[in-house]
Amino acid sequence: MVLPKTRKAAVKTAEGTFEIKEVPMPEITQPDYVLVKVRGSGVCGSDLHSWKVPRPESVGRITGHEVAGDVVAVGEDVTNVKPSDRVGVDTVIGCGKCYWCRVGQYHICPQRSEIRGRTFAQGFSEYIVGPADHVYKIPDHVGYGEAAIMDVYGTSVHAINRTNTHMGQTVAIFGAGPIGQSLLDQVNVTGANGIIIDIIDSPLEFAENTIGALETINSTEVDPVKRVMELT
Ligand SMILES: [Zn+2]
Ligand SMILES: [Zn+2]
Repeated sequence: MVLPKTRKAAVKTAEGTFEIKEVPMPEITQPDYVLVKVRGSGVCGSDLHSWKVPRPESVGRITGHEVAGDVVAVGEDVTNVKPSDRVGVDTVIGCGKCYWCRVGQYHICPQRSEIRGRTFAQGFSEYIVGPADHVYKIPDHVGYGEAAIMDVYGTSVHAINRTNTHMGQTVAIFGAGPIGQSLLDQVNVTGANGIIIDIIDSPLEFAENTIGALETINSTEVDPVKRVMELT
């Protein structure tokens, strides 16, 4: 495959918006790195926090950290994926050397922001590069859009693990955004019952009709504490 010399990217402006620019292609600078063509990129709540917010330190940056795509090139030491593999990308990348990285808590590595910012967390561009052990092959029936929100599901897996949610329990989830919805999905997988609470009807309808909930509560209409106590 002949790769282009440049890629399109949404580059942060002084106003906190994006400008679409042609920028240099990222390069495989380490033997364990892979180059991925981006096929799906999610918009995180944290992306919205910085939308139209002037931040001098962000000018010129490429963001986007919920990503899936196709492997297009690999470094010489890479064995887990090959070109044309469809992958979901874990864009949280630590230094691999500090205490937190060594105990598997690389999401709180002090160097995380800097390292991910210059590697995989550039999902609002056509190509990204980073370590092969942060890409995961996805089955044919999983679309790029679904794979791109593995980041969101990972947050919910963490919540399930931390709370030891299991069969027979009832769980109240406050907030029916993407993380709340994915958490409800996994509460259902564990066999527990999920009650989901929000102030907007449409995500509650999605939770009820698409994911499945013991009950949905619009807390502008119903006292959620009272209702949860009645249900449990
Ligand atoms: Zn995020
Ligand atoms: Zn580290």
